[in-house]
Amino acid sequence: MISEQELREGVVENMKAMDSAGLNHGTAGNVSVRFEDGMLISPSGIPASMLTPEQVVPTQFDGSFTGDFKPSSEWRMHSGLLEKRTDVNAVVHCHSRFATTLACARKPIPFLHYMTAVTGGAEIPVAPYATFGTQDLADSILETLDGRFGCLMANHGQIAVSTSLKRALSVAEEIETQAGYYYGTLAIGGPVVLTDEDLKNVAIEFKKYGQS
Ligand SMILES: [Zn+2]
Repeated sequence: MISEQELREGVVENMKAMDSAGLNHGTAGNVSVRFEDGMLISPSGIPASMLTPEQVVPTQFDGSFTGDFKPSSEWRMHSGLLEKRTDVNAVVHCHSRFATTLACARKPIPFLHYMTAVTGGAEIPVAPYATFGTQDLADSILETLDGRFGCLMANHGQIAVSTSLKRALSVAEEIETQAGYYYGTLAIGGPVVLTDEDLKNVAIEFKKYGQS
C-alpha cells in the first residue's frame, strides 16, 4: 500500500520530470493519482519548479477539495477518467511540442512504428476540441480513449493514463516520441504505415517483453 505522502511526492516528481524532459513548461500540464475514493491532483497555477508535496490537492470526483490550494483547472478530465476507468490509477496531461503540433493540425498518429501501439491501439487518436477545463472536454477524452491509454487533444495537447504515475508518465513520453517521428516523416513524404497483422504480432511480443 502506497502512503498518501508517497503519492503526493509522486505527483510532484511527475510534474518536475515533465518539465526537465521538455514535455511541459510553466503552469501548463497536470497530474493526478487515485487516492481513497477520489484523487490527489496537482494544484492550479503553480509551476512545477515551485511545486511541493504539501500543495498537491485531495479532490473528490465532484470537484470538492480540502486544504488551502485549488485543484488544477483540468480536474474534470482527471476525475472523469479515474471515476469511469477502473483500470486506470494515474493521469498525466501536458502540452508537449510534437504531440501538440499534431493536435493543432488534428492529425491522429498512424501505426508507423511498433511503439505507437503503447496506447493500446493501432493509432493514437485526436479527441475533438472543447474548451479547457470543461465537462465537454472531459467527455470528449473519455469517449476518444475508449479503453486506450493515451490520445491527442485537438488544439490543446495530449493525455496519458496508466496503472501508476510512473507508467502514465512513460506513456506520455512515448506519445511525444511517436508524434516526433510522425512529424518528421510528414516532411519526407509521409510514413509507411504498419498493418493489422503487424499490430497482432506486436501485441504478442509486448506480452512477452521485460522481466516476468
Ligand atoms: Zn492543458
